[in-house]
Amino acid sequence: MGLRRLGVLGWPVAHSRSPAMQNAALAATGLDGEYVYERVAVTPEDFAATVAGLAAVGFAGVNVTIPHKEAALALATDASADARAIGAANTLTFGAQDGAIRADNTDAPGVLDALGEPAPASALVLGAGGSARAVAHALRSTGAAVAVWNRTPARAEALATDIGVAAVSGAVDAELLVNCTSVGLHDPTATFKELPVKADDIGRYACVVDLVYRDGGTELLRAAERRGCRCVDGLEILVRQGARSFQIWTGRSAPLDVMRRAARDAEPQQPPPPSGRDGDRDRR
Ligand code: NAP
Repeated sequence: MGLRRLGVLGWPVAHSRSPAMQNAALAATGLDGEYVYERVAVTPEDFAATVAGLAAVGFAGVNVTIPHKEAALALATDASADARAIGAANTLTFGAQDGAIRADNTDAPGVLDALGEPAPASALVLGAGGSARAVAHALRSTGAAVAVWNRTPARAEALATDIGVAAVSGAVDAELLVNCTSVGLHDPTATFKELPVKADDIGRYACVVDLVYRDGGTELLRAAERRGCRCVDGLEILVRQGARSFQIWTGRSAPLDVMRRAARDAEPQQPPPPSGRDGDRDRR
């Protein structure tokens, strides 16, 4: 059998660190003669037709990132309970049977992997987009009391109803704070103007997670570190979701340290410029 293909589908996707990270993992496990991981730029218009043709051109599975995660779930013939509850998938696996597509969401367990044991008893999640849904669902599944704040309150309320957590209108105390907004990605100086948490109050949270990753670190995590909080950065979240996807496709444990190094060393590329109101782009 020839090389089996893996990849990441996104729009845009040039900034993705997943190819460097996954190819390093394949090499370290001796699977680089069996699989190769590619970057695949696909527009939303072309997404369904592209996915339908991937198995025929040798793809065993793919990650999907912004803006395709909901569409990926919709195309699947089978989906994990996590993916269904979140309403989005970041990992597709093509079955031996013609047309079979399995959808998983490794963002949710990846966050719990990054946090380790014991899981926090309470959390404040900032944001109500795709990653906030995955994080809120994951934390709730451990029994944590989860509060969600969002710039646009109606979206926090919708998330709260769908996932079974509480929507709040400002910062509340919790063991864990998770930034699932794109704040801090393009303009670090805006961080504490755009989030409901103040730098001086961040010590209220024993642990702070920032899904945003930038070379040199984010303003949120710098403030949290200064106040003695345990910190988890966006790269660790990227590595943990990628490790879960790697295991789904190859059946092998992922070499975490190799993936961390490769993700960290991946050629830093300019994040795409802000577009529209959010300027959001998943940097996966
Ligand atoms: P998304 O679905 O587009 O959601 C974006 C969220 O950010 C929304 O809640 C939005 O609020 C909020 N937001 C945007 N600009 C804001 C501002 N100026 N002030 C306050 N809130 C603002 O994006 P996503 O997929 O959830 O991703 C969110 C961030 O996490 C992105 O930066 C992405 O790079 C990062 N991420 C990292 C990983 C990783 O592996 N490390 C994985 C996934 C995502 P509104 O609802 O009010 O617009």
